[in-house]
Amino acid sequence: MVDSTPASPAPEEHAHDVIIVGGGLAGGLIALALHRHAPGCRFLVIEAGRTLGGHHRWSWFETDIPESERALMAGFHLNGWDEGYDITFPGLGRTLPTSYRSLASAEFHRALTEELPAERVLLETRAASLDAGGVTLADGTRMAAKRVIDCRPFRSSQHLAGGWQVFLGQHFKCETPHGLTRPVIMDASVAQIAPHGNGEAYRFVYVLPLSPDEVFIEDTYYADQPKMDAEVLKGRVAEYAIRNGWKGEVIDQEAGILPVISGGDFAAATAEVTIPGVALVGARGGFSHPLTSYTLPFAVDNALRIARLIARRPDLTGEELAAYCARRARRHWRATAYYRMLSRMLFEAAEPGKRVVVFEHFYALQGRLVERFYAGRSTWPDRLRILTGKPPVAIPRAIRALFSSGKPFKTETPA
Ligand SMILES: Cc1cc2nc3c(=O)[nH]c(=O)nc-3n(C[C@H](O)[C@H](O)[C@H](O)COP(=O)(O)OP(=O)(O)OC[C@H]3O[C@@H](n4cnc5c(N)ncnc54)[C@H](O)[C@@H]3O)c2cc1C
Repeated sequence: MVDSTPASPAPEEHAHDVIIVGGGLAGGLIALALHRHAPGCRFLVIEAGRTLGGHHRWSWFETDIPESERALMAGFHLNGWDEGYDITFPGLGRTLPTSYRSLASAEFHRALTEELPAERVLLETRAASLDAGGVTLADGTRMAAKRVIDCRPFRSSQHLAGGWQVFLGQHFKCETPHGLTRPVIMDASVAQIAPHGNGEAYRFVYVLPLSPDEVFIEDTYYADQPKMDAEVLKGRVAEYAIRNGWKGEVIDQEAGILPVISGGDFAAATAEVTIPGVALVGARGGFSHPLTSYTLPFAVDNALRIARLIARRPDLTGEELAAYCARRARRHWRATAYYRMLSRMLFEAAEPGKRVVVFEHFYALQGRLVERFYAGRSTWPDRLRILTGKPPVAIPRAIRALFSSGKPFKTETPA
């Protein structure tokens, strides 16, 4: 008997086991983890920019990453401080004991391009569209893959609520040693004023002594609007350097406007960026700390889990990988609900000029509690402890914030 059913189209030949679109922090770390933990995996990372990692400096507390996962970062030349860090508030100054680490994106690019085989990295190449079977590049080239992972940047959504963290940092080469030995994670003794037109905001300066005569100074504020006046921020950084007696030239600069998420409909926000059968991770996939906007510890964890899963299950389909990442993202959203509530306290319960007291109250707490907070692993006693004591905000406003669904993001294009 002749089979009259039309032949189904031949499946695309998979030249790649995995294509990672976006060679930023999340995509670069997945490539590294696959290279180390999934031998034989034919992966390719496609990055639109000229380098992996863009132009950033990523920092984290050593305890943000579980010991079992720290080896992934061990090949990078990091800046590290093991004598703790300082915080300064109008009514509080403290040294906390946790070790701190920092990685410059130039080093991220150098180490990755040295360790990964050249054929596994495609730079200056933009993906125009992604689907479950592969990627189509901007020049029309089709690249088939068994699994596709979307690591493109975070995209804001009307379904998310919250505010913004706006910052500009400059790397100074000083004429003489600056004398600082520990990072200053928050110097909130500065004026609590955002640049003009942006109202008052929680503002602090962040300082990293990168070498005896190099210092990185960043001016940061939490604001309702995603607006930055770079010239004002540069002026503030310069003023801070002068105030501390540090003279020198600026040799590098970074700036960012990051979301501080206080609520929203995660399923609806994720649906806007989800492509069926394509795994979604990184900041775009929701893997960030709602209050600090940091993603590094979650990027390390995801990279290792994805690589080990693929090594264990060479038959894993792209759809299964996508479903695995989506489940992890939902779990992450649920696990970080408490931090979104704190974001609401910051943006809704506290008057903008008084947001500083919310942080001052927090930093007066026990060092280990602060560590667990940054790692996104606060225990229930920690959570209660953060909310007890003399309230830093008016109680009726705090209660309203507790039950609020958050203020929708103001999503104007950053200036
Ligand atoms: C200046 C700055 C400093 C930060 N500091 C810290 C910090 O200290 N600690 C911390 O944990 N977090 C920090 N963050 C927040 C967060 O960790 C970073 O934004 C992090 O880089 C997010 O990683 P990601 O891989 O999800 O996205 P990204 O690093 O933004 O990577 C996305 C990549 O996708 C590429 N891309 C986009 N479209 C395409 C396309 N069509 N085809 C191919 N490639 C494409 C982009 O060029 C980019 O390289 C910082 C953010 C900024 C902006």
